[in-house]
Parts: sequence; structure tokens; C-alpha cells
Amino acid sequence: QLSLATVLAESARKYPDKIAVIDTLTTERITYKDLWQQALTYAGGLNINPGDVVAVQIPNLADFPRVYYAVLAAGGTIVPMHLLLTPEENAYVLKDSGAKLLIAHSSQLENAGAAAKLAGVPVMSVGPAVPGIDRLEEAPGEPLRSYVSREAEDVAVVFYTSGTTGRSKGALLTHLNLVMNTMVNVFDIHDLNADDIVMGCLPLFHTFGQTVGMNGTFRLGGTIVLMARFTGEAAIQLMVRENVTIFHGVPTMYIGLLEAAAKADKLPNLRLCVSGGASLPVAVLEKFNDAFGATIFEGYGLSETSPTATTNQPAFGTKAGTVGHPIWGVEVEIARPEIDERIELMDDGELGEIVIRGHNVFAGYLNNPEATAEAVVDGWFRTGDLGRKDENGFISIVDRKKDLVIRGGFNVYPREVEEALARHPAVQQVAVIGVPDPVHGEEICAVVVPDPGGITAEELIEWSREKLGKHKYPRQIRFAESLPLGPSFKVLKRELRKEYGSDQQ
Ligand code: ATP
Repeated sequence: QLSLATVLAESARKYPDKIAVIDTLTTERITYKDLWQQALTYAGGLNINPGDVVAVQIPNLADFPRVYYAVLAAGGTIVPMHLLLTPEENAYVLKDSGAKLLIAHSSQLENAGAAAKLAGVPVMSVGPAVPGIDRLEEAPGEPLRSYVSREAEDVAVVFYTSGTTGRSKGALLTHLNLVMNTMVNVFDIHDLNADDIVMGCLPLFHTFGQTVGMNGTFRLGGTIVLMARFTGEAAIQLMVRENVTIFHGVPTMYIGLLEAAAKADKLPNLRLCVSGGASLPVAVLEKFNDAFGATIFEGYGLSETSPTATTNQPAFGTKAGTVGHPIWGVEVEIARPEIDERIELMDDGELGEIVIRGHNVFAGYLNNPEATAEAVVDGWFRTGDLGRKDENGFISIVDRKKDLVIRGGFNVYPREVEEALARHPAVQQVAVIGVPDPVHGEEICAVVVPDPGGITAEELIEWSREKLGKHKYPRQIRFAESLPLGPSFKVLKRELRKEYGSDQQ
């Protein structure tokens, strides 16, 4: 038996008076003892049976861990709801997951209430009272004395893939998956400790912020500083004020921090930074390391792999532009992408599909045996990402299979083009997509967020022509004020394709 609830329960025993969470919106500073007691109190009011599914729609506030651990303590399964989806999209998640209850923060009630109505699921609120909505705090029931035990293979959390590449699917993550990933991330890889103060600006509903950020911090007995709305400037101020030592973020956050650093009076004294979720341009990594004097360790994973599968690790040395080595106890290999029915592994240096096997691989997609059978073959999880392994075992992600552009019969990996453009000093952010072209089938289009000061499309085309092969450099440059971001702050290429003329997904 094993419960993810143990992560908080044990730290409440070991570090009762340490601050577990700093909620920067409400200014609460909550000790481990109090956080666990509040979770047990909420658990008493939930009125659910072990295995019941409870959806949770809460921003990065102390209410998130309170409710999350209440559901776990009561033996329930959590569905973290994205905060930027429409009520229709959220209603789909509520129905598909079979949620018995939706617990929403009062700031989310307009969206949550509409979704719950569409799905026919009852809602309870946390946070300031809202007329007509039952509050979890006031629900009758005795606080639980301890948590309900679960089997290691029981499902703890269902993560709905954010749909960057299509229809949302519920990935089933077991207690074992999530406890192992929490432990490996904090102890085996990064050697964090109870004195660490972790910046919690990644959304807690997403696997990266939840497992690596929140649960990792609680396993350590460290402190997480929750930030509900990220801006580079506010994050820097907060990190300086709270003496943050560890930063976890997606590349867009590092770009935001870099931009803000130029104007900041003081920078935080970071000990370690972790990037994941999307590829970190080497130019950003180098600029960040220079400006902040802290190394970024880039890792790689998916909701389906708890999330971490590989990462740069101090023990193996780091290599910019790669996602490092597999984590402890996990195998990561390259397989022939064109063979669907079985896994045929390829040699070092060859480009193929990244496949993963080990304790971090999920238990399948909810209500979707076809998708599970396609994704998990011979025990290997097919990631849909293309990559290669070098002779020293460093893995690099070349691109998502679905983002590949085929121009005039040649494969072009947008990430390589993005890397080249990101090196231009006037480029703040860039995303490369394929757009339909009558001659070449697809044409390479770069959507660029420029630094203020001005740069022309011709200059950028010339710059990339010098650095990239003839079939690869972008013929089209579109300037934008910002790039469309998904709920986990990743660039939504699907939206860019829609906007710039391609109908492919
Ligand atoms: P969807 O599964 O619907 O596409 P998503 O992008 O939100 O949505 P996640 O599980 O959050 O799904 O993200 C996993 C994907 O993120 C990986 O398959 C990979 O394409 C990308 N990714 C994660 N880390 C990295 C990295 N370090 N470099 C490049 N890509 C990465």
C-alpha cells in the first residue's frame, strides 16, 4: 500500500512548525502541521468513498494543496482542471472523468459553475463565500484522523493532456508513479533539502508544477512560494523578498525573467533552476546563466510519464541543447517511428521516436483503450517526440512528430529553425510552423516576437539563410506582439497554424 498523501503527512510529522506554503495573494504562511490538519478537516467534509473522482479548479493559492491533500486523504482520485479552458471544454473533462464533485475556488466559479451545470456535477467552493454555493469549509463531518490507505497501483491523479496536439485525453497516474517521480526529482537528481525555498509559479494543475514543484517541496519539508499570476518582474521581486533558492519553469518563463532582469535592481540568489515542458533555446539558457549566475538544468517529460523521464543531472555533467539522461530506474530509448505494431530500437545517433519504460509510465488513458494500445507497445510508451541519443547517452529532442514540416519533400524540424532565430539579438521569442504552399506543399513560417527597436523580415531571413540549409530557412516571417500560450504556458502551434493559414493540426 502506498498513498501520495504520505508526502504531506510525513513532513507534517517531521517538520510540524516549518512553513510549507507561502500564499502570496492572501499572504498566508502555513506550517506543515496546519496544512495537513486543514486537509484532514476538509477531507471530513468531502463525503466521498475511496476511489471517487473529485475535480479541482483552483489557482496557485494555498487552497490548492489544502484541497488536493484533502481528496487524497479521503482516498479519492483528483482531476486537476485547467484554468484557461472554456466551460464546454471543462464539462467534457468532468463527464469523461466521471467526477462526483467539483471543488472550485470562488474566483473560478463563473467558469466552473457553467461547466458543472453542463456536466450535471455538484460544485462546492473554497475561498471567499459566494451566495448560493456550498462551502467546503462549512461542510458537516468530523476531520479525518489520518488518511485512507490506497494500493500503489490505484489511480491518484488523472491529468487531461492540455490538447496542444488535439483532443484531450485523461492520463491515469498511480500513487506509485507520482510518489516515485516526486522522490527521484528532489533527492536523486537535484539533491534538494529542507532549507530550500521553491518558487511555485508553474500552474499547480499541470504535472510539472504539481509533482516537481509542489509535491517535491512537501517531500523535502521545504517551502513553496505560490504565485497566482506570473510576470517576470513580479517573480523577481518575490524571489528576492522570500529568498527563493530553486526555480522551476517552462522556457517562456525564463524568457520573461531575462527580459525583467535587465530592469531589476536586485536579482534573486538562485541555487538551481529546472526547465521543462518545451525546448529551451540554447541562447536563452546561456543568457540566463550569465544574468542570474545559476545553471538551468533542462529536463524532459510528459503528463503520461509523471512527468520527468530524463534530465540534465549534476552527476552526469550537463550538455546544453539536450535533455540529459534518463532518471533513476527509467529506460529511455529511440525506436523506429514508422513501425506502429512493435518497438524496434535504433542505434545511438539515429533519429527516431523517443520511447520510455519504467516506474514513471502511466496506467493508460481513461475510457480510451484504443489510444492506450497505440501509445503503450510492449511495455514501452511511445511519446510522439522525435529525438536521438549521443555516444555519451545525452538525449536531445528534435521535435514533436506532429510539428514536423515537409517542404518540397524534405523534412524540416521547426525546433532547429527556432534555435537559429533565437540567437538573433533582436528576437525575444519565436515559433516556427509549416503553412500550405502551392509549390512546396508546405512553407516554413517563423512567427517572431521582436525586441523593441525594430528588425525587418528581410534581415531575419538573411540571418537564417546564413545559418541553415536551403530547404530549412524561413521564407515567411510574421511579427507578433506575443505568442498564444496554453494553460501550461506552452506555445500553441495549433493556434498559430490556424492564424497563419494552415488547416493541419
Ligand atoms: P498534449 O499532450 O496535448 O500535446 P501538452 O503539451 O500539454 O499537451 P504535456 O504532457 O504537458 O502535454 O507535454 C509533453 C510534451 O512537451 C512532450 O511530448 C514534448 O513534446 C514537450 N516537451 C517537454 N519537455 C521538453 C523539452 N525539454 N524539450 C522539448 N520538448 C519538451
